[in-house]
Amino acid sequence: MSYKVNARRLRKIYNRLRRLPKGVNFFKYASKHVVRLASEMKVQFVNITPVNLASITASNSSYYDFFSSDSFISGLEQAFQVSTDVENVELSIWDVKTKNEFKKCHLLWNHFYISWDGWPTPCCAKPFPMELNFGNVYESSLMSCLNSPAYRDFRLMWHKNITPDFYKKCQAIDLKPIDLSIGITLN
Ligand code: SF4
Repeated sequence: MSYKVNARRLRKIYNRLRRLPKGVNFFKYASKHVVRLASEMKVQFVNITPVNLASITASNSSYYDFFSSDSFISGLEQAFQVSTDVENVELSIWDVKTKNEFKKCHLLWNHFYISWDGWPTPCCAKPFPMELNFGNVYESSLMSCLNSPAYRDFRLMWHKNITPDFYKKCQAIDLKPIDLSIGITLN
């Protein structure tokens, strides 16, 4: 499918959304269109995940309240219904059902990032590596960064299920589980 066809479709969605009255929640109306578009474009998987506030030190966690609102839940239900109707798109969402705690996150064990200038960071510091990093791979080896005392301390805290301060606003810790009746895939 060409870029121009995609751009025309996105334009159509944008125009439809522009006509909505002011103050109408974007997610509530946009999510089902995203699923329809994915179906037309033969994109098999669509995943919904919040912006993680862990490294956005300027924001407080009240943003997460949105995910318990009727707007979010009804938008999600509509999008899920569309994914069921079209049959070729699987809609998934982060694990909203189980208890949030540090041990729920497995990323310290299997996921790390290295910024373009060599800073290994935990997942959620990747946009802002100077907020939190575990050394620099240009100054020492990757393995020594991953086994640095600071990184090992984080993994020790994981074992004890004690949340490091930096992670306290992470969605895996701070976003309350949502009561959903739909059988959506969790990831
Ligand atoms: S707890 Fe949150 S911030 Fe920390 S690694 Fe996991 S997902 Fe990222």
